[in-house]
Amino acid sequence: MELNKILQNNEFSVRYQPQINADTGEIVGAEALVRIRKSDGIMISPLVFIPSMEKEGKIAELDRQVLKIVCSDIMEAGFGGIKMPPVTVNISRINMGFPETAEKLKAIADSFSVDREQLVFELTESGVYKDKRNELSELMGKLQEMGFKISLDDYGTGFSSLKMMADVNFDILKLDRYFVSQIGSPRIDKILRSVIEMSERLGASPIAEGVENVSQLDFLRKNGCKYMQGYYFYRPLSKQEFLKKLLNSRKDIPV
Ligand code: C2E
Ligand code: CA
Ligand code: CA
Repeated sequence: MELNKILQNNEFSVRYQPQINADTGEIVGAEALVRIRKSDGIMISPLVFIPSMEKEGKIAELDRQVLKIVCSDIMEAGFGGIKMPPVTVNISRINMGFPETAEKLKAIADSFSVDREQLVFELTESGVYKDKRNELSELMGKLQEMGFKISLDDYGTGFSSLKMMADVNFDILKLDRYFVSQIGSPRIDKILRSVIEMSERLGASPIAEGVENVSQLDFLRKNGCKYMQGYYFYRPLSKQEFLKKLLNSRKDIPV
């Protein structure tokens, strides 16, 4: 795949997966998930191209292009009278190596006049990341000072360690899909209860991803995690589909 050409030609497209407040059913946010749209209309999953983008050092550029698409969508929706809820944009850990990352991200948001509270930056796992603790807490701290919220992806696995939680004051912790898929197994249930509690103690809001059925939903709600995303609610949607569901979800809520 010719990554340079794809980057230059802006062949990326973004899908929005709604995030729900399970107590009310309202869509309270969305995660932006990148795809490559080929000329024949076929979409390619990021799982296919992100590893090579990381290897070739292109991932930071990809993240910024995704942010541009998201900001432009937020701006356009605003022109149409729709205020988008906060959109979570994935930011690869590879960005940690570049001190000017926060300024670059802020400049993009500003150039589309997007309010800071309309964006959440989610720190994702990266295969090539090496231990860069200082850079990481510095970048995350800077983004927070600028007024953005920060979220930790895959909370509970891999690099999302306790050490990281000690270093960085995340606003949102995203419970890893693996744990959610194993709900019902006694040890996993205990772990999940504890990580939800820990997240609250740390002053972070927990959100679960990969919710696929009603028993997972019930378990999470009962144990204090009311924010969720997953196929049980919605798959990742095009911008138009997302805005339609957003307006319906607002209408559906009992006042
Ligand atoms: P992620 O950040 O953990 O994103 C969630 C993935 O889970 C998405 O896959 C989503 O489509 C999928 N998913 C959502 N609900 C469910 C469910 O109920 N069950 C199951 N089994 N899966 C569900 P997707 O879109 O293929 O993205 C894969 C990964 O690619 C993402 O995982 C993220 O790490 C990475 N990625 C996506 N967009 C970007 C981006 O703009 N920048 C960076 N750096 N990474 C990205
Ligand atoms: Ca993510
Ligand atoms: Ca994740």
